[in-house]
Amino acid sequence: MSEIYSHSRLSTFENCRKKFEFRYVLKLPEDSEGIEAFVGKRVHEVLERLYEFVGRGQTPKLERVIDRYNANFDAHYDAERIRIVKAGLDKAFYRALGVRCLNNFYRRHYPFDGDETLGLEQRVRFDLDPAGEYAMQGIVDRIVRARDGAIEIQDYKTGSWIPNQNKLDEDRQLALYQIGVAEEYGSGEPIRLVWHYLAKDRTCSSTRSAEELETLKADVIALIDKIRATREFPATKNALCDWCGYKSFCPAFGGDIPRAHAQGTSAQTPPRVST
Ligand code: SF4
Repeated sequence: MSEIYSHSRLSTFENCRKKFEFRYVLKLPEDSEGIEAFVGKRVHEVLERLYEFVGRGQTPKLERVIDRYNANFDAHYDAERIRIVKAGLDKAFYRALGVRCLNNFYRRHYPFDGDETLGLEQRVRFDLDPAGEYAMQGIVDRIVRARDGAIEIQDYKTGSWIPNQNKLDEDRQLALYQIGVAEEYGSGEPIRLVWHYLAKDRTCSSTRSAEELETLKADVIALIDKIRATREFPATKNALCDWCGYKSFCPAFGGDIPRAHAQGTSAQTPPRVST
């Protein structure tokens, strides 16, 4: 059976084939995690829980939401594993970043009755071709029926960088999700792509035409063909190397695969599932 692709898998290949090899060919576990990703996970899980409560008619107070975030932050924080890359910033800064994100979101959307939740952290699977040889999957932060009847594919961002509209109109990740969501909810439904930039308290959106989605499918199929034909995985140093969980394994930085993994014992340490 063909492997299932994801936006993350495609992006990793585009950015650095060595990292792609570590993660998707050798299936090695990462040896560290950037604190930005760690905070993002904590914020995502708290917002998922918030909407679960809202769905049961039990809107939690902001203080409860922040308490939950702090409790999860402490429970999951592993100083040996979490990497703080940016000079001059510390754990307290990043904890506060997550609090700010949640504060902003809560105050903007309270009492959370402006739309209807259709799915939370929902996995979407779909094929790019009729024969099913190009399978994709992804996880949508929140799928929503907006007041105007449109379906929204919502994504939470905890980073401070906000792309301009042109970049959002070219975004591949949510556009791919649209293909899967349209299959589930009906391709005739109007669909909007929505990004919540939580740290800056800004919401951005974009739409895709049917023609744009067909072009996207063709582009991604061509990229998957390229990945399948690839046999060489050179390292490509880039601006994200300091955040790479394989840097200690990477030959571009004088690293090597630890003996335990090189000998195939990585099966005893299952890699984190990454889509
Ligand atoms: S450290 Fe940089 S060059 Fe090495 S695998 Fe990671 S992303 Fe690629």
